Amino acid sequence: MDDRLFRNAMGKFATGVTVITTELDGEAHGMTANAFMSVSLNPKLVVISIGEKAKMLDKINESGTFAVNILAEEQQEVSMLFAGQIKEKREADFDRIQDVPVVKDALANIVCKVYSKQVAGDHTLFIGEVQDIILREGTPLTFFEGKYGKIVDRQLT
Ligand code: FAD
Repeated sequence: MDDRLFRNAMGKFATGVTVITTELDGEAHGMTANAFMSVSLNPKLVVISIGEKAKMLDKINESGTFAVNILAEEQQEVSMLFAGQIKEKREADFDRIQDVPVVKDALANIVCKVYSKQVAGDHTLFIGEVQDIILREGTPLTFFEGKYGKIVDRQLT
């Protein structure tokens, strides 16, 4: 099957946008990701999927911890920074929860310990056991058909 067809089909699934963060040897690292979902309530588990070429892969393998930061609609630049879509080098300013760097002003910071992992083709699925959560009010940054967006018609009922 054609790669483009597969990518286009996956792009029909509208998602939020997260930045995965971790720290190794005192150095924080962030990576934009939309392959994220909730897995289990008891215990509380989530899953992320990290490509084999991403620097994040070795960092999570070694640190054993990561945070999922769910971005607000005002945070498109944050997503672009951690996806390598902004060419000039910028400083990132992190908060910390349980010694893990997290993205400031995200809708949610979800701190996880690696529970298990599964190599699947050219990605590795990390299942994380949730250790701590911080929530904020706001609306999410979205991603659909390869483009950023926001929710314009939110039903509040
Ligand atoms: P790099 O490419 O080195 O880092 C990413 C960027 O973050 C670089 O520009 C770097 O300068 C910056 N950065 C990192 N840490 C810091 C810091 N401490 N201070 C300042 N800047 C820093 N890939 C996946 O594997 N899984 C996914 O689910 C996924 N979803 C994506 C969803 C979207 C919407 C987008 C746009 C991309 C997605 N990607 C995903 C691709 C992924 O974000 C990029 O390939 C990314 O560049 C890989 O990061 P890396 O770990 O290799 O590190």
